[in-house]
Amino acid sequence: MTKKILVLPGDGIGPEITAEAVRVLNALDLKFEMEEALLGGGAVDAIGNPYPEATRKLAREADAILLGAVGGPQWDSLPREQRPERGLLGIRKDLNLFANLRPAILYPELANASTLKPEVVAGLDILIVRELTGDIYFGQPRGVREENGERVGFNTMVYSESEIRRIAHVSFQAAQKRNKKLCSVDKMNVLECTQLWRDVMIEVSKDYPDVELSHMLVDNAAMQLVKAPKQFDVMVTGNMFGDILSDEASMLTGSIGMLPSASLDQNNKGLYEPSHGSAPDIAGKGVANPLATILSAAMMLRYTFNLEEQALRVENAVKKVLAQGYRTGDIYERGTNKVGTREMGDAVLAAL
Ligand code: NAD
Repeated sequence: MTKKILVLPGDGIGPEITAEAVRVLNALDLKFEMEEALLGGGAVDAIGNPYPEATRKLAREADAILLGAVGGPQWDSLPREQRPERGLLGIRKDLNLFANLRPAILYPELANASTLKPEVVAGLDILIVRELTGDIYFGQPRGVREENGERVGFNTMVYSESEIRRIAHVSFQAAQKRNKKLCSVDKMNVLECTQLWRDVMIEVSKDYPDVELSHMLVDNAAMQLVKAPKQFDVMVTGNMFGDILSDEASMLTGSIGMLPSASLDQNNKGLYEPSHGSAPDIAGKGVANPLATILSAAMMLRYTFNLEEQALRVENAVKKVLAQGYRTGDIYERGTNKVGTREMGDAVLAAL
């Protein structure tokens, strides 16, 4: 059966990097029907809405979605409801994509690209599972109000038991497929909401006796990630802590341009996107690293379409181009072959 992929190139480097991932998917000779739509700043400019109705309809019909990135300084002064990021939060919420999977793998060829000592990071392979549709990013009430003659800003951290339970199941199951170690990150010493998080994690752990569950406070987790990151296998945490820790983990690998991500619903329908943003500083220059987006397409093959062999084919092609010495600017070091976005795509296609 033909599967439908919705491609949302987005803003900044988004169109450049998604174009390469689309070429890779097309090269696999699978039955995919691909369609493009607007999301983010481009959608605001064209229609005045970061998540247009037409995109919403196509997103609901699609089996999987490939996204570049959204945002840029030209939209930063718009009212909050019209900012590109609202489009991204909107599609995640609309499709109920509550589980964000972000692997951080350090390819041996890039051990020197990390700012940490090679012996600390060599062989790193961790998976961060971030809850994506709850927490302080969506909690009500929120806003800025006048109180005693001054402005007061406020947001609400909130998690229901069922929200914690479903992300717990995803992360325990992910750990079962790996080294069977799950570290849950919270701030239970200060935040009641995350005490509930910890309690529910412990309850769900009874269903997974083969997985070793541990707990860590988020401040310690931030330290341990740079001190001894290889102690972790799978980490699970809430939306805000996960946002920060997954970016930190990305730097362990040397480049944010190498990190894919998947956001899944209950049925493994997924939105696949690189972990980085729209990189306005290099947009339109043809120098962005497309590998995170290409590896996101590989995750799509694995998680939504159950095509493990094809996923591995793409991942092995990426490994091969790194071994051959191809590097975009973000992962370049002397003695390697510096290439642009399109040439990197060409190299992956050749390796396939
Ligand atoms: P960013 O990830 O866009 O860029 C951070 C740095 O990493 C920049 O120096 C950039 O050039 C570099 N970089 C990022 N991706 C790269 C790639 N593929 N190849 C080479 N270098 C790369 O983060 P930022 O600068 O904080 O944010 C820029 C814009 O992106 C903002 O508008 C922000 O809101 C948005 N953003 C979007 C997403 C998303 O769409 N998922 C995520 C984060 C930030």
